[in-house]
Amino acid sequence: MANKLTLVEHPLIQHKLTLMREKGTPSAVFRQLLREISLLLGYEVLRDLATTTKTIETPLQEMEAPVLKGKKLVFVSILRAGNGLLDGLLDLVPSARVAHIGLYRDPQSLTAVEYYLKVPDGLESRRVIVVDPMLATANSASAALARLKEVGARNIKFVCLLAAPEGIEALGRNHPDIPVYTAAIDERLNDHGYILPGLGDAGDRMYGTK
Ligand code: URA
Repeated sequence: MANKLTLVEHPLIQHKLTLMREKGTPSAVFRQLLREISLLLGYEVLRDLATTTKTIETPLQEMEAPVLKGKKLVFVSILRAGNGLLDGLLDLVPSARVAHIGLYRDPQSLTAVEYYLKVPDGLESRRVIVVDPMLATANSASAALARLKEVGARNIKFVCLLAAPEGIEALGRNHPDIPVYTAAIDERLNDHGYILPGLGDAGDRMYGTK
């Protein structure tokens, strides 16, 4: 069974993504673009949020006006590059709870090793949005999703900026129940598990660490 995959192809996203891909783009601009794209992705990812109504008074009359319903959302950042998408989503939903999961990629096996996990309580009754800009081998995403299910998350979506076909396929095998949102699907992975043409190492590009 394959995941429900949503390719968010808004022209503004595509334009900003092109600027991010260019190797000369400075870290500060790269971070700002990622934040802007996450606002646009978030608009799509959260379009099915449930609403209810409350009675308010406009300057002219009373009305039943829509407001978000249910428990606070949880945004989960897969460290460290996930923080780039997280910032924009928090601009959209400042009241959301935030979880962090730290996984590093073993350079030989390319498997994910967990070194940090902090989640809010009540995960089972909250909508959970997991973010990581790059869906490459899907090892980190698969491990993060497995761990979040283990600690109670039920209603989960996964959001990335760029996906490799191999990553989409692997995530579909490991977590066919999780809807995936991406701004682009690239060609393939190279031998080091990097997305081609891609944008390089998202964490390094964000924080100027290489
Ligand atoms: N992680 C990155 O930051 N970039 C890739 O291309 C693949 C994984």
